[in-house]
Amino acid sequence: MRFVIAMMMHETNTFSPVRTPLARFGTHDGPLFGPAAYQAMRGSSSAMGGFIEVAEAIDAEIVTPIAADSPPSGPVEDDAYRTMTDSICEAVRKGCDAIFLDLHGAMVTQSLEDGEGALLSRIRQIAPDVPIAVALDMHANLYPAMVDNSTVIAGYQTYPHIDIYDTGKRAGRVLMDMLAGKVKPTMAWGQRPMLPHVMRQGTDDFPNHELQTMARQMEESGEALCASLFVGFPHADIRDAGLSAVVVADGDEASAEALRDKLLNFAWREREAFVYRLEPLADSLERAARLEGGPVVLLDHYDNCASGGTMDTTTVLGGILRMGLENVAAFAIFDPAAVQELVRAGIGAEVTLALGGKFDMPAIGLRGEPLKVTGQVKLISNGLYRNRGPASPGLLTDMGPTVVLDTGKVEIVVISRHVEPMDMNCLLSLGIDPAQKRFLMLKSRVHWRAGFKPIAKATIECAGTGVCTSDYSQLKFSRVRRPIYPLDLINE
Ligand SMILES: [Zn+2]
Repeated sequence: MRFVIAMMMHETNTFSPVRTPLARFGTHDGPLFGPAAYQAMRGSSSAMGGFIEVAEAIDAEIVTPIAADSPPSGPVEDDAYRTMTDSICEAVRKGCDAIFLDLHGAMVTQSLEDGEGALLSRIRQIAPDVPIAVALDMHANLYPAMVDNSTVIAGYQTYPHIDIYDTGKRAGRVLMDMLAGKVKPTMAWGQRPMLPHVMRQGTDDFPNHELQTMARQMEESGEALCASLFVGFPHADIRDAGLSAVVVADGDEASAEALRDKLLNFAWREREAFVYRLEPLADSLERAARLEGGPVVLLDHYDNCASGGTMDTTTVLGGILRMGLENVAAFAIFDPAAVQELVRAGIGAEVTLALGGKFDMPAIGLRGEPLKVTGQVKLISNGLYRNRGPASPGLLTDMGPTVVLDTGKVEIVVISRHVEPMDMNCLLSLGIDPAQKRFLMLKSRVHWRAGFKPIAKATIECAGTGVCTSDYSQLKFSRVRRPIYPLDLINE
């Protein structure tokens, strides 16, 4: 048996001004190809790692053309997309018995709304009869071409995503059983016209907790081979953004459809619970200041780089400094030029500089606003650490050259690569013990919970500035299908 196993992941925020060239895919500089992809992904906590484990269990020959993963950002540049998809198609063209793809499922390119569907259609033309297993992020925006041109789809069932590896194994095992003649996968998919707010999608919370539990029970009971409910990624102005479901059953199409409808109907009935209610920033910060003890998480959720945020807006940080909150750690401001300035100044130097605000955000009609900050350079790091988990344990994470700037009250982490604070080692690796802080400003929405929820005394959601705003009225939707809830009220 010869298997092609590949990864090509990107969640595209079509409102983001952050560019997505090929170099953005990969820990250092671009994707990994061939044996280097295999070396890096085997035993990793990725879905591709799960695929490799499943394939190695039967001693298959494994071909890994590419492993490409980028933090979310604006549309993928066309030549980056071409390089990545060509490498996968080239490997398929040489002949194989099965294909395992670790995709995100919300990739928009400069020319395509549905990057994954176009890849799968192309693969289907090259290899019409080869079965294809696909692992997707729970934030996939599903298109018909993705389902029509694959054999088995499985999505993550946790958010924060701590079952990525298992998702590869879930999809991979079904395909292996199919190759062994034990099952005949048949898929049903569908969507509802709704754009759940990301801040209301966590699987600790109603209703996604209940939805994912239902999906898992469908698999555990044997009714479904794979059951996946996708909350979708709303910061993509594309036709099929939003909530969808895919159920894979064993040869029974009617059963797959009935289970799919069970998931979709529950989500639709509870759609109001997916709507985020806004609070003005000043009210949130005052509420935070009145709380006793800590750490209190100040969640700067409009500017999460793992949703395409620039990670350099300074509205929340500015509010914290103006209020004079003390014993704060702020993770992080993305500003490679500021890092270089601080490195040149050296450890111990006192520096006044214009921090962050280097990106304009034309899609939401805002210009970048740097914040004038004075502080002491406390620490300089190469920015590398390994995750302690539970999200992607062992994963090598690269913040790029990194500096801790200490204002006396706030320790501001300034980084050179986009990294979401979802693992405590992003601070521990810089000598900051988050448990001893009174406040933690985190640029994140839900993933921070994986690492920091166990130590957080309270959470205050802070409405700042950014292209992953939770205020849909700031986003100009023109391509998404209408009507769609809650942009439109739908009474049925
Ligand atoms: Zn996701």
